[in-house]
Amino acid sequence: MNASAIDRLPVVVIGAGPIGLAAAAHLVERGLDPLVLEAGPTAGSAVREWSHVRLFSTWAELVDPAAEKLLAPTGWVRPDAAVYPTGGDWAERYLQPLADVLGDTVRYGVRVTGVARAGRDRIVDSGRDEQPFTVHIETSDGREERLTARAVIDASGTWSTPSPMGADGLAALGEKAAADRVSYRVPDVDDPAVRARYAGRRTAVIGSGASAFTALALLAELAAEAPGTHAVWVLRRGIGATTYGGGEADQLPHAEPWACAPRRPSRPVTRARSPDSAPGPSPMTATDWSSSPTTAAARTPSTRSSSSPASAPTSPSSPSSASASTNASRPRRPSPR
Ligand SMILES: Cc1cc2nc3c(=O)[nH]c(=O)nc-3n(C[C@H](O)[C@H](O)[C@H](O)COP(=O)(O)OP(=O)(O)OC[C@H]3O[C@@H](n4cnc5c(N)ncnc54)[C@H](O)[C@@H]3O)c2cc1C
Repeated sequence: MNASAIDRLPVVVIGAGPIGLAAAAHLVERGLDPLVLEAGPTAGSAVREWSHVRLFSTWAELVDPAAEKLLAPTGWVRPDAAVYPTGGDWAERYLQPLADVLGDTVRYGVRVTGVARAGRDRIVDSGRDEQPFTVHIETSDGREERLTARAVIDASGTWSTPSPMGADGLAALGEKAAADRVSYRVPDVDDPAVRARYAGRRTAVIGSGASAFTALALLAELAAEAPGTHAVWVLRRGIGATTYGGGEADQLPHAEPWACAPRRPSRPVTRARSPDSAPGPSPMTATDWSSSPTTAAARTPSTRSSSSPASAPTSPSSPSSASASTNASRPRRPSPR
């Protein structure tokens, strides 16, 4: 295929999540033809799986400028920039309208199963860069198709491949064997089945990302209502100045001050061995956040308020810092799970 024929092919974007849809909007802005292939039935299918979680970013940080230009003529109204939406709000008020305005360029129920250079198998390497891409897809009704593309943008995200617990980025010893007791998502404690799983039980929350903070805050709320609920926070590193991120290390634009920033807990921590028994410099640290339901509730900022992001449990012994709003204590962008 010659170069001008390749240039007439679409740019395939894998995934109609926030990144894939923003990429499509930028392609349109540059006069290129996107073709967005989404495995799920709607835009933001992965984001909708955590609809109940309030983001730590405001709308000001969640709407792409090129996307807004496409949406404006439809009468779309930008949500209040200072509000922290839930995942459900993000999908329904922005991602789906954006996908709708992109129209037929977004196909749903189409899973990309492979991408390669057309006509170049694993052995043949000559002239690869002169060939278009071939994209293998499987539709939700089981059909297979092959598409040809001038370029491919992989925006398939990481939701279906959560980070394992091991310090080396692989599963910890015993993690697979305990699979039926491990969840890689923030629990929706308003769902009766999920609530029953955690109420009155001891749960280890592993990690120092924003999702761990949110899970701890939700479990502390649950502890206030369901006696016997305990959360143990397990960290690879001890709690220190960088646990909550922010400051110089924060790459997010500082659009506006934070209404409710997480604070350092003042409770002492107890040291425990890593679950995969790794000796040496990075033992896990466990902090028990259960205590009495009253103190758990006192430490917990509202995870339901749209004017404050979900954040870490806070210590009742430092009430003066409750409304702290400095860059140094801003949460960092999470590794979501
Ligand atoms: C609980 C939680 C809270 C978060 N809070 C924030 C926050 O406050 N601020 C922030 O900036 N970020 C936040 N994030 C992170 C943010 O959601 C992600 O960075 C963002 O969703 C990534 O967008 P994406 O489009 O790359 O991937 P995704 O949102 O995962 O979308 C990928 C899409 O690709 C589709 N797909 C996957 N594989 C295929 C395939 N093979 N073929 C076709 N389609 C496929 C999926 O169905 C999905 O729709 C949070 C994440 C979580 C989990």
